[in-house]
Amino acid sequence: MSDNLSDDQNKHIDGANQKERPACSVCHRSEKEAGPLLRLPNHLYLCGDCAQKSMDEMQNRLDLNSVLEDIPNMSFLNLGDLFGGSPKKADRADKQEAENFDLKEVPAPHVMKAKLDQYVIGQDHAKKVLAVAVYNHYKRIAEEQKIEQEGKDQNRQLTFDDFKESVEIQKSNILMIGPTGSGKTYLVQTLARMLDVPLAMTDATSLTEAGYIGDDIESVVSKLLAAAGNNVAKAEHGIIFIDEIDKIAKKRNTNQRDVSGEAVQQGMLRLLEGAEVEVPVGAASKNAMVPMKMVNTRNILFIVGGAFPGLEDIIKERLNRHQSIGFHADLKDQYDHEPNLIRRITTEDLRKFGMIPEFLGRLPIICPLESLTEEMLVEILKEPKNAILRQYQVLLAMDEVKLSFEEDAIRAIARRALEKDTGARALRSILESLMLDIMYEIPKDENIGEVVITRDYVNQCGGPKIIMRGQAV
Ligand code: ADP
Repeated sequence: MSDNLSDDQNKHIDGANQKERPACSVCHRSEKEAGPLLRLPNHLYLCGDCAQKSMDEMQNRLDLNSVLEDIPNMSFLNLGDLFGGSPKKADRADKQEAENFDLKEVPAPHVMKAKLDQYVIGQDHAKKVLAVAVYNHYKRIAEEQKIEQEGKDQNRQLTFDDFKESVEIQKSNILMIGPTGSGKTYLVQTLARMLDVPLAMTDATSLTEAGYIGDDIESVVSKLLAAAGNNVAKAEHGIIFIDEIDKIAKKRNTNQRDVSGEAVQQGMLRLLEGAEVEVPVGAASKNAMVPMKMVNTRNILFIVGGAFPGLEDIIKERLNRHQSIGFHADLKDQYDHEPNLIRRITTEDLRKFGMIPEFLGRLPIICPLESLTEEMLVEILKEPKNAILRQYQVLLAMDEVKLSFEEDAIRAIARRALEKDTGARALRSILESLMLDIMYEIPKDENIGEVVITRDYVNQCGGPKIIMRGQAV
């Protein structure tokens, strides 16, 4: 208590403080929210999270443990233990799980592709690129873990040289380029499910630099942590998918200052390369009430995707320019009808589109996807394990009604979807509108035994064939 105050004054202050509810002086959470508080002099209180954070920070800066190791019976105090629970212990359990990560569980590229084939139609080249990139990514993690384990077995601290001696395998973040509805998101989702790793998805358009309205760039790591059930180690081996990346290209041919696109690309560099970020647990934004966890993004696989409209013209322009310099100037338009022109993409084209070189440098793998053809759309309707047509068949089977589609009808659906130019996305909306009346009417009449979707019904110049129970087809 202050020496300058009389005893009466001191008693008065103590009385006032007993009446007020104590709260952590750093994060302002009450005892009820933050757990038991540590009482410090001068009416200060500290919760477990804040105490641990400050001790960790000190430990990181001074590496006190290595100093204290030389002094018998001395170790750095784990403040979490004072509060009953121990946040450090939880972190250690997390780390343990990270060490158990086993490359043998990651299927070989050809196995991965075969599994993707069961769900995703076509896109063979993209599947190959993805499978190899993902396999190498996890191999790289396994290699690092091996070196760490060897260090531990030999009971010595690892130095930078341990890692330097082995060939450093670069991080293989992936850039997916393909028209809307061609399966970019679907491929990533299927992959994450197959590998059983957490996945967080976000739209680049919703990301802003810190300080602007919108989600700041690190919020996506927070989402990944949530997808990993707040297990840091699991999150650190997860996948982050950022869609619509082309929307944060620098604006071309404009005199306006580009406030968002380029700055968001800049802001993402640190994450893509690998950084320690402090993210809120169980919330999208940082504030004093939310506990935070450190996540290292070094081993998180970033996949970014976009449609990049107009990119083919840039590629064509480049190819034509090269041609017109040589003897082949007369072949100027030879690329106009070339299918899969997108496969000839280079980073120069992407720079021209408006992506900054530093950003492209952190996305060494480019994975182009094709536009879906009518044939592929037909297959998407029928073939995958959870094909849309099968889904409706199962729904009607629950009412004991058989649903079938004439071949012509399926083709007509694919053709209508192609006209909409939104890839396979259009298939569901077309089917939804075709099936609405049928799904409404069927439960009314128990005599209906089978419904056949005809081409005329799809083309809106007739109805479906309805067959009653016991009626010959
Ligand atoms: P985008 O390329 O715009 O990310 P999506 O992956 O979200 O497109 O595709 C939308 C939906 O279309 C998916 O949920 C999936 O059902 C279907 N789809 C798209 N492409 C394919 C494909 N190649 N094979 C099977 N289904 C596909």
